[in-house]
Amino acid sequence: MKKPFVTKEQVEEIVKSYPTPFHIYDEKAIRENARKLKAAFSWNPGYREYFAVKATPNPTILKILNEEGCGTDCSSYTELLMSEKCGIVGDSIMFSSNDTPAEDFILARKLGATINLDDYTHVQFLKDTCGIPETISCRYNPGGTFSISTTIMDNPGDAKYGMTKEQLFKAYVELKEAGAKKFGLHSFLASNTVTNEYYPTLAKILFQVAAELKEQTGIELSFINLSGGIGIPYTPDKEPNDIMAIGEGVRKAFEEVLVPAGLGNVSIFTELGRFMLAPYGHLVTKAIHEKHTHKEYIGVDACAVNLMRPAMYGAYHHITVLGKENEPCDFMYDVTGSLCENNDKFAIDRKLPKIDKGDYLVIHDTGAHGFAMGYSYNGKLKSAELLLCEDGSVKQIRRAETPEDYFATLEGYWEV
Ligand SMILES: *Cc1c(COP(=O)(O)O)cnc(C)c1O
Repeated sequence: MKKPFVTKEQVEEIVKSYPTPFHIYDEKAIRENARKLKAAFSWNPGYREYFAVKATPNPTILKILNEEGCGTDCSSYTELLMSEKCGIVGDSIMFSSNDTPAEDFILARKLGATINLDDYTHVQFLKDTCGIPETISCRYNPGGTFSISTTIMDNPGDAKYGMTKEQLFKAYVELKEAGAKKFGLHSFLASNTVTNEYYPTLAKILFQVAAELKEQTGIELSFINLSGGIGIPYTPDKEPNDIMAIGEGVRKAFEEVLVPAGLGNVSIFTELGRFMLAPYGHLVTKAIHEKHTHKEYIGVDACAVNLMRPAMYGAYHHITVLGKENEPCDFMYDVTGSLCENNDKFAIDRKLPKIDKGDYLVIHDTGAHGFAMGYSYNGKLKSAELLLCEDGSVKQIRRAETPEDYFATLEGYWEV
């Protein structure tokens, strides 16, 4: 069973100040989870998590995680600016971008971020735009398919990210010649993995590459970045990852491969997004219509603009009807938004309790890649983001958009 972190009574109170739809985040749970992650890797003295800003780009969230010791993982100019405005700069920023514009590299360099190069040709590009920094990282793509035992997890051979091993080694040698002194290795091979084996398997691959690099070139890595990819159970039947087991699995691979290679001082970094935030965010929306045609529809006041994953990936997000947590799920609904797009459905053929107009629905696991992926089709406006603070109070951490925001960039034929 997935249980919401807000009750019907709480939501009825919240909507007096902040009408639905809104995203709300659970500060206490975010902090507890960040502490657990830190504990899982406490065997590695240099360990650090760089939160993937794209997952939940809100300064309040970045600051909470920063207080728990996390840096930021940025991949664009504005993400870098947001990190800077939060006072998170220097080696607290990992800049893991791809297809990177020159001005992004220049800003990353100015902020002292650790730059993680996605491609071999970016060595020269970086030299030409802002010079090679002392600390630099490279992103690896082993190609082919990525499997854990006999299960194919993903298809790195089809992914646009990272460089081949040959290019990777050439890049390190050239970076060293250009004055770099500290080197990192990064790879991201599978997304939303719900298995304790992903990080250990990935770690072993990267540790072996590090040992090979040392053997062939004498270059010793300072850090290895396991990036994102630890998933969460979106469906109620799945078991969540055990972060302690994951940390222990990485430690074993470290002892097995890196320590014998004389690389026992390597720091482990992570760039988790989904794992850090997804379960600790809800999209709260109100049922405003019911429609009985060839199917049974419940129309809510949120739409795919507020949460794109179901429309984009057919992703499952669990739904709880507040106040009806214990009622039998003996009705079947499509839960829809109002876009003129038939894929604007939060649930299809979902068994739920009988929903009445005015009921509040919690859409679960929207804390990462939820609000952030929003767009503005049909002139729909972005919702507010709220924080359920540790003391139980609720604070608005981003106001809802207004029509003026939507019109703000228009020029000509228009006076706002
Ligand atoms: C998206 C992304 C992440 C975070 O991924 P999650 O699946 O949210 O953990 C980390 N690093 C990079 C480079 C990314 O693009």
